Amino acid sequence: MTTPLLSVSGLKKHFTSVKGFPRPKKTTVRAVDGVDFSVAAGEAFGLVGESGCGKSTAARALLRLIEPDAGEIRFAGQDVREARGAALVRLRQRMQIVFQDPYSSLNPRRTIGRTLTEPLHVHGIATGNEARARAIGLLEEVGLPSAAMGRYPHEFSGGQRQRIGIARALTLEPELIVADEPVSALDVSVQAQVLLLLKSLQARRGLAFVFVSHDLSVIRWFCTRVAVMYLGRIVEQGPVTRVFSAPRHPYTRMLRDASPIPDPSRRGILPRVIGEIPSAAAPPPGCHFHPRCPRATDICRTQYPEWDDADGHGTACHHPEED
Ligand code: SF4
Repeated sequence: MTTPLLSVSGLKKHFTSVKGFPRPKKTTVRAVDGVDFSVAAGEAFGLVGESGCGKSTAARALLRLIEPDAGEIRFAGQDVREARGAALVRLRQRMQIVFQDPYSSLNPRRTIGRTLTEPLHVHGIATGNEARARAIGLLEEVGLPSAAMGRYPHEFSGGQRQRIGIARALTLEPELIVADEPVSALDVSVQAQVLLLLKSLQARRGLAFVFVSHDLSVIRWFCTRVAVMYLGRIVEQGPVTRVFSAPRHPYTRMLRDASPIPDPSRRGILPRVIGEIPSAAAPPPGCHFHPRCPRATDICRTQYPEWDDADGHGTACHHPEED
């Protein structure tokens, strides 16, 4: 088996806050609570789950935009958590991020030209006309005219701004892009265009993706493997086709049944989402999903299930469905 481009094991990020008066109380939110996965070079790997499941925190922790509390992150064999100084700068060059909200992630006072050329200057890759030519090439690659160089973010539509965000992520020729809900802030018609752009970039540049989304149909279309997160943990992981066509974990099945995936065999089945995701500050004991699970039994209420991998399609459930 070849070494993965990115491998993550035991990743944790907890947030602690003190609230309340006159008796302040310490609360710990286990946003990411022991997550393992790997991504091969050129592969699109999805992280999916409801809002608040920890997928965006996990994605940001990969790049150390949020410092993880525990676990190991290896990129091309290098320990990301141990990297300091120039080594960390080089790693960040190879791993880039595209954010959900392109407007707030672009500096409103900088022209697009400056946004795209500055990383080239800072990393000593190109200056002057060469940097400008590279930036124009990137704009063309994401479907924008060279005239965009002298304009500011507010002069573009949401979809165009996301294209600029993608161009910025490409300036340093990364091997991996962490895409954090990259199309959820866009209109549906624009979503499709941006997804097609990302797909063509993946094919052309051989890019790997960690693609974070709450939208199963987007993950199903874009990714080849997926991890389903619930309250800071991965509850199911495997090839997209198997995870969504034959989910082993009841939570995946619930998400799948509630998502608008056109499937004639499921015609007439009403979407159902049972209950709401509990607070990650007070996860239910045992299997965290048990208050919402139609298959829950006594053991589910007291013991967190072990991970069970069946031929690359794993789940953490005491009573998994057959693959
Ligand atoms: Fe449901 Fe039990 Fe499986 Fe949790 S462990 S998902 S409660 S069946």
